[in-house]
Amino acid sequence: MHGLIMDHQLLVADIVRHVERFHGDTEVVSRLPDDGGRIHRCTYADVAARARRVANVLDTLAVAPQTTVGTLAWNTHRHLELYYGVSSARRVLHTVNPRLFPEQIIWIINHAEDQVLFFDECFAPLVDGIAPQCKTVKHWVAMTTADKLPTMKNVQPLSYEELLAAASDQYEWPSFDEREAASLCYTSGTTGNPKGVLYSHRSTILHAMAACLPDVMCLTARDVVLPVVPMFHVNGWGTPYACGMMGAKLVLPGAGLDGASLYELFESERVTFSAGVPTVWLGLMQHLQKHKLKFTTQWRSTVGGSACPPALMKTFRDDYGVRIGHAWGMSEMSPLGTYGSLKNHHLSLPKDEQFAVEIKQGRPIFGVDLKIVDETGAELPRDGKAFGDIHVKGPWVVSGYYKLDNDPTIDGWFPTGDVGTLDPDGFLQITDRSKDVIKSGGEWISSIDLENVAMAHPAVQEAAVIGVHHPKWDERPLLIIVKKPGQETSRDELLGHFTGKIAKWWTPDDVVFVPEIPHTATGKISKLQLRQQFKEHKLPTA
Ligand code: ADP
Repeated sequence: MHGLIMDHQLLVADIVRHVERFHGDTEVVSRLPDDGGRIHRCTYADVAARARRVANVLDTLAVAPQTTVGTLAWNTHRHLELYYGVSSARRVLHTVNPRLFPEQIIWIINHAEDQVLFFDECFAPLVDGIAPQCKTVKHWVAMTTADKLPTMKNVQPLSYEELLAAASDQYEWPSFDEREAASLCYTSGTTGNPKGVLYSHRSTILHAMAACLPDVMCLTARDVVLPVVPMFHVNGWGTPYACGMMGAKLVLPGAGLDGASLYELFESERVTFSAGVPTVWLGLMQHLQKHKLKFTTQWRSTVGGSACPPALMKTFRDDYGVRIGHAWGMSEMSPLGTYGSLKNHHLSLPKDEQFAVEIKQGRPIFGVDLKIVDETGAELPRDGKAFGDIHVKGPWVVSGYYKLDNDPTIDGWFPTGDVGTLDPDGFLQITDRSKDVIKSGGEWISSIDLENVAMAHPAVQEAAVIGVHHPKWDERPLLIIVKKPGQETSRDELLGHFTGKIAKWWTPDDVVFVPEIPHTATGKISKLQLRQQFKEHKLPTA
């Protein structure tokens, strides 16, 4: 017997309708990349009306339903209008990461078969370079006014503002099957070609609702949210949808992701919540320390995308009163999988024991089931000690990649490629990506654990650990360090810093000092590049 409840399809258009009707006057603030970083203010009602204009523009440009529409854009109100308008009008929003190599961007756009590409005017040189090879793109739209249209060699760009001005703001959002695709993101593809994850309307809504939960991002209509995570990185971790759902004020930082620009926005807009990768918070922290700044507002943040060094969390908490919630996930999980909120029984623990829980990657959010398995696929105990491959399932977990036939799942579970432990409370601790763990004499060493110890040293600005070849042990850890400006330390001092903090045999065999550590297009340490760079490194122990 079915329940007698409306069979309402969960669609992105529901968010647009809701936020316009009930939070229409809430502000959306943007730092405009096409206007020297000028601050632009509008409301959710404006965004919704302009999303309907976007839908009319797509009709005029003859973009068929269910085809893909690409973006190469920073976080702004215009990108939000595309988030809302493209998917609600039954087209698929494909956010492309402009930090990828041009060849990768071309490959991704061709694979997705984007029909239109909306780009920030600052990406005009990039677009000019790739356009001749992007055969499916019929229209290139510069997200700017007609007077600021870039002069380009290979493209006759249309002006976003001109197109919107000419379009009607009336549009009836269609209703359709919630399982239809809403958006598409490609994983960075550090090895092999990138893989497309195609999110449905249903998965987008359920994931965004889960993101708002109190033990997750705890988003409310009282919040002022500054997503530092770019909207081209796994749906901006769901914040563009979640903020619309809750009617939270949005502050969109455009291209200004440096410490100074962010600090200014946090202060001027009275931000209460933010989200970003550790590298961004490291940059902000350095800016605060250098200029001896404090925040005059109370805010909290989510950090994820790579392991957050405990030292960073501690500094933000103790010096700046900012609570950082540690989240784990990936493109294949929309991206949220776990979130680091304490349980009731943790509250009576001493602060340092609470902190030991908070630095883990968090526990499963309702909707995501999670287990760790050994190499035979047998489930391992949730004792916080056994570590194995992390498998997940749930209504916002990938079931297959776009236009790839092979099924990535195993018995209905998605193998994440990450390795970790799970404790009796469900807290996950990531040891490594399976391809980054260091295999020493048949045992595994966690590069993340070693990096966390190194990051707690006062002279260390950034640390990375990779495995390099060792004739006896197969691999041994090499510590790569960027020193803080004006700070000195030595190999021996750094290695001494590990004493008592980890098993002795985990201690790195060598330390190298570098001016810079390479990062990927999503702001993570590029272990792949480091492994290439130090392929020939001779360990003193070898
Ligand atoms: P990309 O591969 O493009 O960087 P993702 O954002 O999907 O794309 O990366 C997901 C991966 O990032 C995860 O598989 C995991 O290895 C890593 N990751 C994400 N969050 C964390 C975290 N809190 N701690 C450690 N690793 C993390």
